[in-house]
Amino acid sequence: MCRSGQVISNMPCRLTHYYTYLHGATLVVQKYIRKSMTTLLINLFIWLFVVPLITGTLLLFLNSTKSKKSIHSNSSRTAVLLFHSVSDKSLTEQSHVTTNTFKRLLSYIHKQKYRTLTAYETALFPENKIDTSASYISLIFDDGFENFYTNAIPLLKQLDIRASVFIVAGSIDSYSSWDIYKPQKQLSKEQIRSISIAGHEIGSHTLSHPDLVLLSDKEITHELSESKKILEDITGTPVKSLSFPFGSWSMRVWNIAKECGYEAAVAYRKHNRATPPIIPTTGVYAFDSVEDIIEKIEKKQAVSNAIQRSLIMPHFAKGTPVWKFRKTYNIFNYFR
Ligand SMILES: [Zn+2]
Repeated sequence: MCRSGQVISNMPCRLTHYYTYLHGATLVVQKYIRKSMTTLLINLFIWLFVVPLITGTLLLFLNSTKSKKSIHSNSSRTAVLLFHSVSDKSLTEQSHVTTNTFKRLLSYIHKQKYRTLTAYETALFPENKIDTSASYISLIFDDGFENFYTNAIPLLKQLDIRASVFIVAGSIDSYSSWDIYKPQKQLSKEQIRSISIAGHEIGSHTLSHPDLVLLSDKEITHELSESKKILEDITGTPVKSLSFPFGSWSMRVWNIAKECGYEAAVAYRKHNRATPPIIPTTGVYAFDSVEDIIEKIEKKQAVSNAIQRSLIMPHFAKGTPVWKFRKTYNIFNYFR
């Protein structure tokens, strides 16, 4: 029986089919609209809530990183740069600047009348005694490579600029052995003494360059107290500052450091947790042009390369799986 009331023997009722088709089409359209509505609601939810939430969180993170790069809240012009090597020989290592780049940088610092502070002075200089109209910079050298003496010292001397050198006390007069790069010649005792007499700060970069966070309290004490003693014996002056290898530190490490007699420390990982006397630094690397370094000084970079690098480089340190892999399969040998 058709809805129209006509019966056409066994033939399908055309009108019934029209209704059926119409009903089916309506269902399809409704389903499509429901589906579209669901998609629309999902899109609205994403664009109105999820995207602003992620973007806002990211912006907050970038702003907090940027605002905390300066160690003194009222002194936006205190820059702390972390160097390793000043060399023209190596083109494959990240942690070096060329002598020409370094020379041009010092020239900029000199022309802009930046006042240089040692790491210790930067960490402990009372805020209210800093001339807020002046600009300050601290040049820090980790690892104690010999090229600091041969390449950096003559340039620093020309412009009467002081620096801080953090030395791996167990490798004096020897070679570096803690990263994937070719071992580099370390400073000698005589060179360290001469650097200290010239007015530069000598600090400890531990005894063997371990990741201190991974050590026991006893081992940390050994690394920090022995290195301090060795360096003080060489220079005849107290060693008050410490630079954490790989920038890796924790409050446990810092508390032990204080017990060993340290008053200031240098870090480049976890900047947001570093407050004086632990000073955050900005790393300088081979891929930085002078203009890049000046941008770092003027704090125009929201997130420093140092943070990015610090998340990667510890995985290449001595004792890590990457290090062992390198030893087994001789990868990285083409760097040498
Ligand atoms: Zn180091």
